[in-house]
Amino acid sequence: MLDNIVIVMVNTTHSGNIGAAARAMKNMGLSQLVLVDPKAAIDEEAIQRSSRAEDILHQARIVASLEEAIADCGLVVGTSARSRYIPWPLMNPRECAAKAAMASANGNKIALVFGRESSGLTNDELHLCHAHVHIPTVEDFSSLNVAQAIQVMCYEMRLAAISEPALQQEESAWGVEWDYELANHEQLNGMLHHLEQTMVDIGFLDPNTPKQTMSRLRRLFQRAGVDKMEVNILRGIFSAVQRQQKVQGVQQDAVKTGDSD
Ligand code: SAH
Repeated sequence: MLDNIVIVMVNTTHSGNIGAAARAMKNMGLSQLVLVDPKAAIDEEAIQRSSRAEDILHQARIVASLEEAIADCGLVVGTSARSRYIPWPLMNPRECAAKAAMASANGNKIALVFGRESSGLTNDELHLCHAHVHIPTVEDFSSLNVAQAIQVMCYEMRLAAISEPALQQEESAWGVEWDYELANHEQLNGMLHHLEQTMVDIGFLDPNTPKQTMSRLRRLFQRAGVDKMEVNILRGIFSAVQRQQKVQGVQQDAVKTGDSD
C-alpha cells in the first residue's frame, strides 16, 4: 500500500518544509514525493530538516502542474485546513487511510495533495480531487504546518498498512471483484473535456458563462469512481452526439442556402 502513495506538495515556499516532509514520509515508510512548481530549492536547510531522508529529496519528482503530478492516479485526495464553497466529499485522515488501502488493493495509485503554506490549495485544485481530508483541529485554529499535516497523514497511512494487510487484500471497493481499473486522472480529465466540448457543441453550455457546471459534473464522476471501460463508453456517446450535431448543422446550412436561392 505505502508504495502506491504519492505525496504531492504544491508551490511550497520554505525548503525546510520540504525537508521535514521527507523526514515524515521516511519515518512512516513512504518514499514518493512530487513537488509541483516549488518556490523553494532543495538546499542545505531542506537536507538538514530531512534528517537523513535525503534519498527522498533526491528522488523527488518536480513537475510544472498539479494535473501532471496526479495524471496516473486513480484516487486523488486534497487536504485542507478549511471548508470551501461547493461541498465536496470530506473524510478524516483515518477514513482516508481506509479508502487508500482499498484503492491500493485494487491496483490504483493514490495521491495525497498538500497546499501552499500561505494560502493552501485553490478551489480549482481542490476540485481535481475525488475527496478532501480535514485533520480535525479546534475550530478557530485549524491550520497545521504543512510538514506536520503530512506527518499526520503518513502516520494514518502506515497504521492502515500494518493493521490488517490480509483483510485489505481481500476487500474490494464494491464488495465484489471489479472487472476494470478505475479511470486515472488523465483519462477522467480527457472524458470531462470531451463532455464539456459536447455540451458547448449542442448549445447546452455557454463557454463564456460556464458557472459551476463543470465543477459539479467533475464532482459527480469523481464521486462515482468511474472505471476505464465506463469512460470509454461515455466518450463513445459524446462522439456520436458530436457527429449527429455536425450532420444536423450541415443539413441546416443546406436548408438556409436553399432559402436564399
Ligand atoms: N492558510 C491556509 C493553510 C495552509 S496550511 C489555508 O487557510 O488554507 C498548508 C497546507 O497544510 C494546507 O494546504 C494543507 O495541505 C495542510 N493542512 C494544514 N492544516 C490542515 C488541516 N487541519 N487538515 C488538513 N490539511 C491541513
